[in-house]
Amino acid sequence: MHNIQALQDFLSTPRKIVILTHFKPDADALGSSLGLAGYLKKKGHQPTVITPSDYPSFLNWMPGNSEVVVFQKEKPETAADLIKNAEMIFCLDFNSLSRINELGDMVKASSARKVLIDHHLEPEAFAEFEQWDTKAASTTELVYGLIEEMGEKSQIEPNIADCLYAGMMTDTGGFRHPNTTSRVFQVASDLVARGANPSKISRLIYDTNSLERLRLLGYVLSQKLQVLPEFKTAYIVLNNDDLKKYGSQTGDTEGLVNFGLSIEGVHLSVLISERKENIKLSFRSLGNFSVNDFARKHFEGGGHKNAAGGQSNIGLEETVKKFLALLPEHQNQLLES
Ligand code: 5GP
Ligand code: MN
Repeated sequence: MHNIQALQDFLSTPRKIVILTHFKPDADALGSSLGLAGYLKKKGHQPTVITPSDYPSFLNWMPGNSEVVVFQKEKPETAADLIKNAEMIFCLDFNSLSRINELGDMVKASSARKVLIDHHLEPEAFAEFEQWDTKAASTTELVYGLIEEMGEKSQIEPNIADCLYAGMMTDTGGFRHPNTTSRVFQVASDLVARGANPSKISRLIYDTNSLERLRLLGYVLSQKLQVLPEFKTAYIVLNNDDLKKYGSQTGDTEGLVNFGLSIEGVHLSVLISERKENIKLSFRSLGNFSVNDFARKHFEGGGHKNAAGGQSNIGLEETVKKFLALLPEHQNQLLES
């Protein structure tokens, strides 16, 4: 961060701070937010983490989880008051105010100083302070980097280390994706030295499935996974009935899209699922095919080159049709990648 001294000066007196994640936060969004909140609290500030929606129960173990304010459309006052009274607002793991829905306008209207900490492509310019690096594997890596730049690594206690490690583990797909750099291992190693517990975190995130969630996975793999070899593409479509039948909870579909990409010869995997408010699309790719570009251009989304998301408001069937109709124009790119 080029103006880190100004940030440090501002944080040299106790401040009322709001930390925001994106809609449906994942382990990186929530881990970076709660890790940062833990650090700011230790420094005498009053941080509150606000999420624009609920999140998967496999994240509830994170230290500080019980104090998170989950925004509710029917009862917006709590979040609105916190944002209005905040002196500083941190935006973590997203870079466009459209990713936080109703909260976006509240952030725009607030006179608080704004800080962006993020690793997604093509950020909107709304923050005065930016810790932004698309080469960082996770936002938690950037929170660690910020604490490091401030000369404050000794403040990272085990609870904070656990939160930061969680985001590194999940955004690298368990240290397997191409974003797994030597820096990732250095930071992860230091977090473990400071008390993060890798096997505990791995178990809490990956091995606390409900039976229904595993049954949903079985059903998806046997009945719903489609492969189009001519486009090196795999896709899964899940409608409301499928999700209801398996008592699907927030987070139950997370990770499903990766199974498509695990098939040999598949370079693009897509999960299209029906949600209360719209249709959600998850994209994963191998190699050169940019799902960030694809999601941005066709599905009001974005993300990283090899992992992105988007949405659609034209219903499930039309969305699937639209997606399939787009494949021929990308066929060469898909076959080359
Ligand atoms: P997922 O498919 O796991 O929901 O998201 C993959 C990546 O794309 C994540 O880094 C996530 O933050 C980003 N992403 C997911 N949905 C959207 C979206 O609607 N808009 C943008 N800009 N990014 C998204
Ligand atoms: Mn992330």
